[in-house]
Amino acid sequence: METTAITNIISQEKVDKIGNFIEKYDKILITTHVSPDGDALGSSLGLYHYLVSRGKSVKLIVPNSFPYFLRWMKGANEVLVYEYNPEAGQRIIENSELIFCLDFNVPKRNGEMAPFVQKSAAKKVLIDHHPFPGNSCDVFISHPEISSTSELIFRLLYQLDEYGKINRESAECIYCGMMTDTGGFTYNSNDPEIFEIISLLLRKNIDKDAIYSKVYDNYTEERFRLLGFVLSQRMKIYHDIHAALIYLSKEDQKQFSYNKGDTEGFVNYPLSIKNILFSTFIREDENLIKLSFRSHGSFACNEFAAEFFDGGGHLNASGGEFYGTMEEAMQVFEKGLEKYSATLKESLQ
Ligand code: 5GP
Ligand code: MN
Repeated sequence: METTAITNIISQEKVDKIGNFIEKYDKILITTHVSPDGDALGSSLGLYHYLVSRGKSVKLIVPNSFPYFLRWMKGANEVLVYEYNPEAGQRIIENSELIFCLDFNVPKRNGEMAPFVQKSAAKKVLIDHHPFPGNSCDVFISHPEISSTSELIFRLLYQLDEYGKINRESAECIYCGMMTDTGGFTYNSNDPEIFEIISLLLRKNIDKDAIYSKVYDNYTEERFRLLGFVLSQRMKIYHDIHAALIYLSKEDQKQFSYNKGDTEGFVNYPLSIKNILFSTFIREDENLIKLSFRSHGSFACNEFAAEFFDGGGHLNASGGEFYGTMEEAMQVFEKGLEKYSATLKESLQ
């Protein structure tokens, strides 16, 4: 019987290398993926608070803005949004001695910042849990079997023997990332060590119930009415192949005073319908069509995203994009469904 509560899954050689980098370098930059979600921000701020407590000069730059229900996180006010001031962002990137790339697997996911981060002379550390990693970094930590990058940040600090230095702010952010990437511990969350880690985070005096409420009970009335509207008016069910689609045009968004982040989570709802195991959400954005995919069980929605929408992500949660009209995007989607219809039919256990 294993007695150690937390297994050292990150190679100790990599942990030691990062420990030395942190010791040696003072100007540290943390960055993450476009459209930062709870895990992107949770892992980044979790590490940020630790490094700040070590007296480091730390900057956190995200490629573009993050949704309002994550703004409560301690340190969120300090986050620089690259899109708003690329010149300032580039200066910081150039001046950094050490860069942490968190929660993304390929440079493209770092958005417009990517070329500057890539060519920077700083030491680079990548920590991520997406499949198919493809970055070149000085230290490369990729664990697709782990449900969140925030959990990996906890594990890194734990393996650095720095659990004692994790403060409450850091613990809150790490918990938030672990919670959001598992849908409040409803998927990808059967590993008992997740709960060992939660237990260690609770000992830092975090209020996990309050964190849940800050993220999930923080929506605007418009967002809620928009949800009601899409479920009754903009949802297509393909019963015979166990698939569903929700689509939302610019016109619809205007009607419900749409704000960035309002459609977060919409893609999950159809999966609550009996026998639906593949759900897609298509939204018309400023210059492109954005797609989100979710699945139950073995259906690989990251493959679907990669094949038809230049995307990727996890087996059960992925995304992609499309340049063209909504109608064209929906046609490509339905062609994709046709191709995968046999697989979808077989996927129902
Ligand atoms: P979401 O649907 O919440 O935007 O994204 C779900 C998952 O898919 C996340 O892990 C995210 O990183 C990934 N993802 C979302 N959009 C894209 C995309 O355009 N390209 C790739 N490669 N991954 C994406
Ligand atoms: Mn993540």
